[in-house]
Amino acid sequence: MELETVCVHGTAAHESPFGAVAVPIFQSATFAHTGGVSTGYDYSRLQNPTREAVEHQLNALEGGTDTVAFSSGMAAMTTLMELFSPGDHIVVTDDLYGGSIRLLNSVSKKNGLLFDYTDTANIDNIRQLLKPNTKALFIETPTNPMMRVTDISAAAKLMHGHNPDAVVIVDNTFLSPYFCRPLKLGADIVLHSGTKYLGGHNDTLAGFLVQGNILLAEKIRFLSKTTGAGLAPFDSFLIGRGIKTLALRMEKSQRSALDIARWLLGQKKIVKVHYVGLPEHPGYELSKRQTSGFGAMLSFETDTAATARAMLNNIKLIQFAESLGGTESLLTFPLTQTHADVPEAERLARGITDRLLRMSVGIENVTDLIEDLNQAINR
Ligand code: PLP
Repeated sequence: MELETVCVHGTAAHESPFGAVAVPIFQSATFAHTGGVSTGYDYSRLQNPTREAVEHQLNALEGGTDTVAFSSGMAAMTTLMELFSPGDHIVVTDDLYGGSIRLLNSVSKKNGLLFDYTDTANIDNIRQLLKPNTKALFIETPTNPMMRVTDISAAAKLMHGHNPDAVVIVDNTFLSPYFCRPLKLGADIVLHSGTKYLGGHNDTLAGFLVQGNILLAEKIRFLSKTTGAGLAPFDSFLIGRGIKTLALRMEKSQRSALDIARWLLGQKKIVKVHYVGLPEHPGYELSKRQTSGFGAMLSFETDTAATARAMLNNIKLIQFAESLGGTESLLTFPLTQTHADVPEAERLARGITDRLLRMSVGIENVTDLIEDLNQAINR
């Protein structure tokens, strides 16, 4: 089956006694053992049929062994960190979603995990950080917000050569399985903020961990039932419904993102555009090999801080908000929003300045979006 079909029909595990075409919302905390026998569903922290349907859907898209749905991307990542023990060392992409950095630095470090951050777009940087206690690599590609691209296959080969049990984790939120399937490239776990492209409508939070082998699948199932951050039935329904149109939304948003990136390049007040789909982007050729698309996230630098501020204040159709991957286009100011908790020196070193804006391109008409950007910047 092709990916568009899997988006629509990947919930195969679900069976409705009434032939419902849409997955029913099983809003039940517990399930009766009629006649003393379990139906396979006992208690919703462990399993719930609506959650299971969305887990099957994403698992089929990513080509995983098992997928677990969580109440948010951060809940998924918090659970993921429970795989590791005090003293374990993890190499991490330095340009990462700010909330992920906050979790690793403020919570996981306190629990004894050791992190080294580096630009993983250069595989040698990873190699130089490997130690006998290195247990994992955590990458985001393209990165947030600077859009740097890491070679997943090369990184996985390096990590598994160093330690066959090392866990290669890819946050695939920006591209979704429609454009990138990290397990096929050698990764072991894929993380998603399902809040973004999977849900796709800016209306609910979710997170996912997709495991590429049975050992990790068993460990993550155990952790999710034990720590209890599973996705609620109604939210599972919303995310599953969102995934049905993932292919259409990704294609449309990507087309518009390229048009917008090209338009931005021609603006006097824009000094740099970071979009992987531009041939001049350093990750363009690699992306053509490892993904089937470039996505619809871009960032750009304005000439002055005043221009950036004016754009945020003047946009009318596009909204000044954090988050991404929804039907509505959003403009984000990483400095005060997604990356507010990253220490200033680190932020500046990565190029997250008062002139950097990030855009998530939605599914509106692209001419309307460009007109809105134009009136916001050239007034
Ligand atoms: N990963 C990435 C790349 C993100 O952008 C986000 C949130 O913005 C997260 C993880 C965290 O997900 P959530 O907001 O669903 O907890």
